[in-house]
Amino acid sequence: METGDLIPAHLAIGTDYGKAIELRMAVRQSIVESSPLYTCPICGVPVYLVSRAEERKFFFRHQVEDGRCPARTRGDMSEEEINARKYNGAKESQAHIRMKEIIAESLRCDPRFSEVKEESILKGQDRAAWRKPDVQAIYDGRPVAFEIQLSTTFLRVIAERRAFYQREGALLVWIFKSFDADKARLTQEDIFYSNNRNLFLASEDTLKASRAASSLILDCRWTEPFLDGGKIDTRWAGRLAAFWELEIDRERQRVFLYDYDRQAEALRGSAVDQFLRLEFEEFWLARSTFDPYDQSVWGRLQTRFREHGIILPSEPNRRPVLLLNALYSAREGHPVGWRYRKLVEVAHCIADRHKEFLRAFRHALTMYRRAEQIRMEDKEGKWRKKAEAYKPLLATNSPEYEPDRRFDALVEILFPELGWSKTQDLAASSNSP
Ligand SMILES: [Zn+2]
Repeated sequence: METGDLIPAHLAIGTDYGKAIELRMAVRQSIVESSPLYTCPICGVPVYLVSRAEERKFFFRHQVEDGRCPARTRGDMSEEEINARKYNGAKESQAHIRMKEIIAESLRCDPRFSEVKEESILKGQDRAAWRKPDVQAIYDGRPVAFEIQLSTTFLRVIAERRAFYQREGALLVWIFKSFDADKARLTQEDIFYSNNRNLFLASEDTLKASRAASSLILDCRWTEPFLDGGKIDTRWAGRLAAFWELEIDRERQRVFLYDYDRQAEALRGSAVDQFLRLEFEEFWLARSTFDPYDQSVWGRLQTRFREHGIILPSEPNRRPVLLLNALYSAREGHPVGWRYRKLVEVAHCIADRHKEFLRAFRHALTMYRRAEQIRMEDKEGKWRKKAEAYKPLLATNSPEYEPDRRFDALVEILFPELGWSKTQDLAASSNSP
C-alpha cells in the first residue's frame, strides 16, 4: 500500500525463508497499526501472511474472511469488473494519494484553472462503481481530467477512460510518478505513443516549481526523431513546462509540448531528398560532361526523380547540364564537368555564354564563400573587369540575365543549402519600381 504496485503473492513472499518470516511479522505489525502493508487487490481487505511451518510454505489470507471476496468465490464477477477493482485498489496506496495532492495543489497555484476537485478515497463496496477522475478542473472553459498512472494499470481501463472522456468533450491527461525509458511498461508505452510521444511526470519538485511560477508545472518527457544513415531514430529529451505551453488536441485526446509527428514527417521528407541527392552526386561528380556514361544508372536516376515529381533530361548532357556543372563547381571549388583547371574559367564561361545561369552561379559563389578564391585565380583582373561590366545590367534586370527557373525544384533537392528557389521572391521584389 506504499507504492500502489500490484504484486503476485509468490513475488511478495520470495524464496528466502528468513525474509519471509520477517515479512510475516512486519505485515502483522502494520495491521495492528491500521496501515496495512498489503491488501487484497480485489476486495481491499488487508491480508496477513500465514506459514505452514512443516511444509515451509507461506500464503496470504484475508484479515476478515467471510467468503464474500470474489477472489475466493469468483461468483458472477466479470474479468472487467475484477480489473476495475484492482485498478481502483491501487489508488488507495500512499503513493497515489500523495500524487493526487500534488496535482490538486499545483492546479490551485494556477489561476487559469478553476473548480479543482479531488476524488475522495473510496473504500470497500464502492470499489466497483464508476470512478471519477483523480483530479479534475476547468481550463479554458472546458473540463480537464487528470488521471494518475502509477506503475500498474490496465490497458483496457485506460482505453475505456479515453473513450469516455472523448465522448464527454473533456481532456484526459495522464500523469506518471516515474518513467524509466529503458524499462517502459506496456501500459506507459500505450499512453505515450497515443499522445504524440509526450508524457508528463509530477513530483514534489514540480509542485515546488508550480508554486514558484503560479502555474501548473509538469515534467515533460518526449522523444525527438533524427536521421541516422537515412533512417529515423529517436532520442529522449525533456524539461519542466507549464501547462499553458502545451498544445491541446481534444479530438484525438492529445496533449503535448513537442510535436513528434510533425518533426518525423519533415525528417521523412528530407531523408528521401538526401538519398536522391547522394545518388545523383555519385553519378555526376564521377564523370566529365563528354565522357560516356552508364545509361542504366541514368535511367534509374530518372525513375527515382520522377517519383518525386522531377523530370530529368533524356540524357545527362542536355539542359540543365551547365547549371548543375556551375553549381557543383562553385560548391567543390574546382571545375566539375568542364575540362578547365580553375574555377574562374567556369565563371568566365557562364558570364559570357550562359547568362541565364549567372545569377544562380553568383549566388552559389557567395554561399560557398568562393570570393577570395576567385580573386586569387583572377591574376590579370579580367574577371574583375567583366564583373564591373555586368553588375549594372544585373541591377537593372537586363533580360539576358533573367534566371532560367525551370530547374528550381531539382536545384532545391541537389543544393538545399543554397535556398535558391527562395531567392525568386527577392528578385521579384527588386523588379518592382
Ligand atoms: Zn479479497
